[in-house]
Amino acid sequence: MSEDVFKKIVSHCKEYGFVFQSSEIYDGLSAVYDYGQMGVELKNNIKKYWWDSMVLLHENVVGIDSAIFMHPTIWKASGHVDAFNDPLIDNKDSKKRYRADVLIEDYLAKIDEKINKEVEKAAKRFGDSFDETMYRQTNPRVLENQAKRDEVHARFAKALNDSNLEELRQIIIDCEIVDPISGTRNWTEVRQFNLMFSTEMGSTADGAMKVYLRPETAQGIFVNFLNVQKTGRMKIPFGIAQIGKAFRNEIVARQFIFRMREFEQMEMQFFVRPGEELEWFAKWKETRIKWHKALGFGDNKYRFHDHEKLAHYANAATDVEFEMPFGFKEVEGIHSRTDFDLSSHEKYSGKKIQYFDPELNKSYTPYVIETSIGVDRMFLSVISASYAEEVLEDGETRVVLRLPAALAPIKLGVLPLIKKDGLPEKAREIIDTLKFDFKCQYDEKDSIGKRYRRQDAIGTPYCVTVDHQSLEDNTVTIRYRDTMEQERVAIDKLSAIIADKVSMKNLLKTIG
Ligand code: ATP
Repeated sequence: MSEDVFKKIVSHCKEYGFVFQSSEIYDGLSAVYDYGQMGVELKNNIKKYWWDSMVLLHENVVGIDSAIFMHPTIWKASGHVDAFNDPLIDNKDSKKRYRADVLIEDYLAKIDEKINKEVEKAAKRFGDSFDETMYRQTNPRVLENQAKRDEVHARFAKALNDSNLEELRQIIIDCEIVDPISGTRNWTEVRQFNLMFSTEMGSTADGAMKVYLRPETAQGIFVNFLNVQKTGRMKIPFGIAQIGKAFRNEIVARQFIFRMREFEQMEMQFFVRPGEELEWFAKWKETRIKWHKALGFGDNKYRFHDHEKLAHYANAATDVEFEMPFGFKEVEGIHSRTDFDLSSHEKYSGKKIQYFDPELNKSYTPYVIETSIGVDRMFLSVISASYAEEVLEDGETRVVLRLPAALAPIKLGVLPLIKKDGLPEKAREIIDTLKFDFKCQYDEKDSIGKRYRRQDAIGTPYCVTVDHQSLEDNTVTIRYRDTMEQERVAIDKLSAIIADKVSMKNLLKTIG
């Protein structure tokens, strides 16, 4: 897939009421988006799939819903006040601001691209006899570029590790990276920029308190560890799940809902005995990839990216990457965070945060495995994988969203052939019996062909057409989105045909 397809997906999302730019009539607010009438249904279904997979399928996982505002010291304890930064650099000519690390990453990606082009060209030239590994190991131009890449990458990784801002700038200078707008190399120093939004709470005489909009939902779980453990009489191992908004003042906000300033996360913290964390890390990796793959987009769309460079508190970390139209990108992070968070909250709050393990007959600070997925990134991956343009036999193109039926916003389109002769009433009757089971949509405008196309475009897996025969024998024509096949079925069989296929329960059964 290409950037071109990506553009089409973005405009499709707008045209069919999935995603709108925030504040559009005021020319928009950058990197903030609203979900429309179709988008909210799809988003809710994604959240339900995640939530149920956590709290229904695992007896020892419970949910919470903590507030967005929290005591500001929490962000000291978590490290966000001091270390949740991006390195920024400005170009003095264009007056534009960039993330220094992204400039370097883009530069590295360009070298990779050069190498790959070289390899592709050779593959074409040599045909079947081409040995890619050998070529990469011996071709002088490839070797030269690879050596350059490795050298810059090593310097870059070290600079990031050491938080060496001067070195980051030096790499940009040495690699002769130019501003894409001004084309110049007139760069400022690199500065750290904190990604948290802050605001003020209260208006007391001695001043209001500075509070932050949470940059992740996880801390709400950590600070409620004891509350949930005690009131729920939870025994280790157990997990706490939460879905909620998070806010980050992202500098490079691009790629639609991939990187937003206000977004939603689905996070689960799983508390385990110290020493058992790597075993649980492996288990959760497996559980989470199964959840993704059960949607049926094809296993080759996913890969793990294990972190080489670990955060100081982590002892294992991986990303689940999904093949977006712009390449494989992180959708979910799975981290083994040791006892860093609970210990840190114990230190800053002065409250003992430990668990008494009756089997071991001792108290300890639990270790944590975290699974953290962005709802919006998941939404983007689902839409991207479902979007298809098909050339039909008559030469026309149809745009269809092949959404997994359990996630589709509308499950059934109900279409009276014409707007009279009692057909609309019959159609409404069908909706009135089925509306308790799943979402139906009535549509009587335009030709049947056009109405089918509209339902295809929003991913509705089933449509039924009500015609004059329906009034006589209580049958309708059902049409399947993916095959476009049609057949005549009895109205009282509809529920049996559709309900099973669109049910979240059956999707969950494939992973439970
Ligand atoms: P990235 O490296 O892409 O900035 P991250 O590693 O900072 O992401 P985490 O802090 O691990 O992300 O957050 C967990 C998940 O939250 C991510 O996998 C992603 O799905 C989602 N997420 C993080 N930042 C954003 C954002 N700005 N917009 C949308 N989703 C986000």
